[in-house]
Amino acid sequence: MAAQTPPRAEVTVDLDAIRHNVALLAARAGEAATMAVVKADGYGHGAVEVARAALRGGATWLGSCSAAEAVALRDAGIDAPILAWLDLPGVDVPPGIDIAVSSIEHLNTLSGRRIHLKIDTGLSRNGCPRELWPDLVAAAAASDNEVYAVWSHLACADEPGHPSVDSQAKRFAEAYQIALDAGLNPKRHLANSAATLDRPDLCFDMVRVGIAMYGLNPLPTKEDLKPAMTFRSSVALTKRIAAGESVSYGQSWTAEKPTNLALVPVGYADGIPRLLSGRFDVLLGGVRRPVRGRVCMDQILVDCGDDVVEVGEEVVLFGPGDRGEPTAREWADTLGTIDYEIVTGMYRPRLTRRYVG
Ligand SMILES: *Cc1c(COP(=O)(O)O)cnc(C)c1O
Repeated sequence: MAAQTPPRAEVTVDLDAIRHNVALLAARAGEAATMAVVKADGYGHGAVEVARAALRGGATWLGSCSAAEAVALRDAGIDAPILAWLDLPGVDVPPGIDIAVSSIEHLNTLSGRRIHLKIDTGLSRNGCPRELWPDLVAAAAASDNEVYAVWSHLACADEPGHPSVDSQAKRFAEAYQIALDAGLNPKRHLANSAATLDRPDLCFDMVRVGIAMYGLNPLPTKEDLKPAMTFRSSVALTKRIAAGESVSYGQSWTAEKPTNLALVPVGYADGIPRLLSGRFDVLLGGVRRPVRGRVCMDQILVDCGDDVVEVGEEVVLFGPGDRGEPTAREWADTLGTIDYEIVTGMYRPRLTRRYVG
């Protein structure tokens, strides 16, 4: 231990937690296969390592946004089926990667591929509009592509009981029937993490799980998910300041009594949103302590009161929360956003990523 330099800015990813979460989700999905969604470098956790852990946990498919993300998985030697769902027209998707198709124009550029026809059931994002669906299905049936699945994506699955879920499910059933009537026999996939946990009736042949696999619960209910990511740094310098001294740019915080400050060498360049200034704590020496003044590019200052902390001591910015440290969810709630954005924002060259488990 003594010889090790403490981390300046380190994200650790607990691969046992990923595996645990995937196993839980796969069990909830019942007979349905589990696609582990590893887009955006595995929501900031590292796509290749997460994909391997997910496949060990019982996932059999991988989902990526772009073809480039899918190719990175193949280049790492991962041979599980991968669906890449959103590329610009003309992007070359190498053979062996499944392609999502939302339009006849796109279909017409493909030959001999395995495709997943996407119906827009109410998100108005990608997916084929309902009035164009019969033509897309007919064209796909007449093409030399293999229609592996019909699929869609839910808008409000994280709000249990939201009427849009049933309305989207109904439109999905209609689209599936049209595919059957055209002589196709596709599989179906609709559920994201929230629907996998909340709507077993919508798991069909496959579920596409993202956020819950990383241990973050999109639902208000309690689930046995383990957050995989911990963000830590170390104390770089300590000092005592007198009453009346102010802290950081803008001097937005002034000490009312003498206090010990710990300088932690991470800032907004490392993924701490500047909007958290004056609104968050860290775990230092087993205690939650407030961060004072503005978040700088490279530094924050922790108020330790009369406690003495040592240079090199561990500082936990966020983690699973089981030691009392803040969570990504807590940051998100303070900022009025979702934890997806917090963890995905931790994919930065300045951070070292370490895998445990
Ligand atoms: C990101 C994404 C998912 C995973 O969603 P989570 O809410 O993270 O489970 C599933 N399907 C599609 C099409 C996506 O883009």
